[in-house]
Amino acid sequence: MAQANKRQKTVVIGAGPVGTLAALYAAQRGHEVEIYELRSDLRDPSTIPLNFTKSINLALSERGINAMRQSDRPDLLNRIFSETIPVYGRMIHGKKDSGVLYQQSQAYDIHGRAIYAVDRGGLNAALLDELDTMPNVKVIFNHKLTGADFKKHKAWFEVIGSTTTPNTGRNREIEIDFDLMIGADGAHSAARYHMMKYSRMDYQQEYIDTLWCEFQIPARTVLKGEKEDSKFSISPNHLHIWPGKDFMFIAIPSSDGSFTCTLFMPSANFDGLEADPTQVPKFFDENFPGVTTLIAPANLISSFNENPHLPLINIKCQPHHYTDSIVIVGDAAHAMVPFYGQGMNAGLEDIRILFSFLDKHPSRRQALDEYSEYRKADAHVVNDLALENYVEMRASVVSPLYAARKWLEET
Ligand code: FAD
Repeated sequence: MAQANKRQKTVVIGAGPVGTLAALYAAQRGHEVEIYELRSDLRDPSTIPLNFTKSINLALSERGINAMRQSDRPDLLNRIFSETIPVYGRMIHGKKDSGVLYQQSQAYDIHGRAIYAVDRGGLNAALLDELDTMPNVKVIFNHKLTGADFKKHKAWFEVIGSTTTPNTGRNREIEIDFDLMIGADGAHSAARYHMMKYSRMDYQQEYIDTLWCEFQIPARTVLKGEKEDSKFSISPNHLHIWPGKDFMFIAIPSSDGSFTCTLFMPSANFDGLEADPTQVPKFFDENFPGVTTLIAPANLISSFNENPHLPLINIKCQPHHYTDSIVIVGDAAHAMVPFYGQGMNAGLEDIRILFSFLDKHPSRRQALDEYSEYRKADAHVVNDLALENYVEMRASVVSPLYAARKWLEET
């Protein structure tokens, strides 16, 4: 353990959005911070992005915004907002029995408030840039957590790409000590896995029978005399949904005029199309009317073939800590399906709440005990809401009852 007369040494595992914000909060409090990340620096163009996709566009909402606001780094939010697009509602796309295409706007908020479309990589890069300005933070890439002793406050990392040890053929390993470890290493968290050997953790995971695959609506070329906004082929201020009973296609705007789109569909449907990908455009025409005018059929086929078909996992566990030694946050503590748009937002909120407990109690042990007890209920509820919202997004939005219910809620 680090010496009592030294600054607290806080080690963060994972330099995703949640880990980098945790490092920022710890650094603001004067801790000696080390953040260990499995992959190389995502700001380096040669780094393979998380999930092997070009980008994930996320919906950033008040939960996450407030957590970044409370980090007391005003330039951070200014920079992030300069690269976001406000989204005021969803746009439902469909086809009438007459064959005519229609779109229907459904506002998110009667007061006109918005959520914000943000590029995950851009947001993550802004947080990393902020950490680079802080003298008490070291960001250490290409280090994979492989083991931890939470009684002795020690951890071990494999140094990815290091010269392999001749006798074992394995990468070099390093040992470090820490006062507090914050595990922010995502859904398949190694920090959580090692913590389970110490803590009597209840753990539940569920894969839903839906896979996702990414597509792109390209930006339009802006012609002479046209407004800048005409680079968007569809409204930039909506989250676009093509609902289907069992599947859906969504599109989220990017500031360059393109849209990052995601197909969510049961694995059996993916299997069917994988057997004959030439059927992808026909499948889109039947189920997501109008999309083939936005994405060329050849591009639909190549995205389907080249982009991975990824699973969706829902994880609940408790407690989120062990003694005063480790706490897990973000997807490591509560990975959820993406249909409520709150996975990252809830993870960022974890950091704000965690540090409010750490600020309140001189005893770190008491702070973590209380944080874990307080946070688990909220984490479980948001996971459940995310699962329920899949039905809402892919089916209820087009039900005639939906409009009536919405009208009743709003009047
Ligand atoms: P991650 O982003 O998973 O980052 C974990 C980091 O830890 C990674 O950099 C990883 O390389 C590193 N790591 C892993 N293992 C180790 C190890 N052993 N040692 C060291 N480092 C390690 N959320 C929203 O709020 N809004 C949305 O609109 C939204 N849309 C989504 C759409 C899709 C299709 C998906 C899949 C998710 C979506 N989410 C959304 C969820 C969001 O992406 C996650 O909740 C968020 O990325 C979690 O952040 P994190 O920092 O906890 O974990």
